[in-house]
Amino acid sequence: MITLGFHGGARTVTGSKYLLECGGETLLIDCGMFQGLKELRLKNWEPTPFSTTGLGAVVLTHCHIDHCGFLPRIVRQGFAGPVFCSQPTAEILPIVLADTAKLQEEDAAFFNKAGLTRHEPALPLFSQADAQSAVRRLAPVAYGAPFQAGRRFTVRLFDAGHILGSAMAEVTVQDQDRTVKVLFSGDVGRYDAPLTPDPDPPPDCDYLLIESTYGSRLHSGEHPHDELEAVVRKVLATRGILLIPAFAVGRSQQILFILKELQNLRRIPALPIHLDSPMAFETTAIYLRYLAGRQVKLDAIQGGGSIASPNVKLHKSQQESRQLSELAGPAVIVSSSGMMSGGRVLHHAQNLLPLSSTVVAFAGFQAEGTRGRRLIEGEKTVRIHGALVPVRAEVVDLGGFSGHADYQDLLTWTSGISRPPKTVFVVHGENSAAEDFAQKLRNQRRWQAVVPSMHQTAEL
Ligand SMILES: [Zn+2]
Ligand SMILES: [Zn+2]
Repeated sequence: MITLGFHGGARTVTGSKYLLECGGETLLIDCGMFQGLKELRLKNWEPTPFSTTGLGAVVLTHCHIDHCGFLPRIVRQGFAGPVFCSQPTAEILPIVLADTAKLQEEDAAFFNKAGLTRHEPALPLFSQADAQSAVRRLAPVAYGAPFQAGRRFTVRLFDAGHILGSAMAEVTVQDQDRTVKVLFSGDVGRYDAPLTPDPDPPPDCDYLLIESTYGSRLHSGEHPHDELEAVVRKVLATRGILLIPAFAVGRSQQILFILKELQNLRRIPALPIHLDSPMAFETTAIYLRYLAGRQVKLDAIQGGGSIASPNVKLHKSQQESRQLSELAGPAVIVSSSGMMSGGRVLHHAQNLLPLSSTVVAFAGFQAEGTRGRRLIEGEKTVRIHGALVPVRAEVVDLGGFSGHADYQDLLTWTSGISRPPKTVFVVHGENSAAEDFAQKLRNQRRWQAVVPSMHQTAEL
């Protein structure tokens, strides 16, 4: 018997954890942290719904926190098996996990100091030492090459075109005299996107898990260059600061690339640009090396794909970050986290949101319950570090920068599958997006599509 448990990324976009079980062996696909709504974040603290000491192996599709951020927690709880992922993911993950652990520790310390905790004392979900232990479990594999993740599971990774190192995972399960192929889409990228290759076509499979972040939406079709130029022009007029919350790996580099290109094309002047992220220093080099090696459309970027420019400053230390409080506009600050759920962007937001000269431009999906989502929905106050901050800034959603396929892209991607899967599980989407997309698969593909619930287990 083969079972598949949905322990996150089910009727929500965060916390992706899918557990395959066969003949007493287990394999976990993704080990994401829940983010956004409080009821979801609290789920990170619940007892893990499977045995972590008995878990055979983990496969990670990519290094976004909602797919990898819970890994140090299960290592802390005794998981000691291999963690398979692509080579770029293995290089970026140590930086991401160390940063996540640091934020966990800082948040706990802040809550304890401010007396804002009902738990005495507030604890981090995991420590930097746990993050280091998790990194020691990493086993990088090449795209396309099959590998064993236990006796019963054979896995292949394909490029998902979502961010550097992102993968979809095909798992072939050997159950006595039958083999069953399960394809996990991971997060599916967009076609013709700057700096990422198109997603690989999906192989045929018996069961498909497909993400549905934009399962009910189409991207505006606006070009990222035009969108970015427009928001830069706004702060040139107000002489304010353009604050772009962005994930430090991938999205930040993409924004800097395009700003540089706009500058080279003389569509915007060389205004001061500050990349304020402790992770960006370390990841930019990794990113550029892989992009150059993978023949991504770097020729689209004038200036040789470099983000280096006299007007671009990278800030690493806390002290450098604090100096940005004095920054005079017009200028750009790119800082993480991308959903304003933590990190340095918070202290910039606290300073800049009350100013009508500020433009805040979001460059990715904003999950339910995050400050980013509230701001996009037009809330006039947000709480940051316990204080109510009034919002007088203009808030813009840069749809052209989304790293996710919209529903049309997802349907195009599924057209690569020739034999209908027995069941398609629509995951990694908020309730309505997942239901909408399941309906589209039923109507347009005539596929059997279901939306699993959290902690549901299906027999394959
Ligand atoms: Zn992602
Ligand atoms: Zn995701």
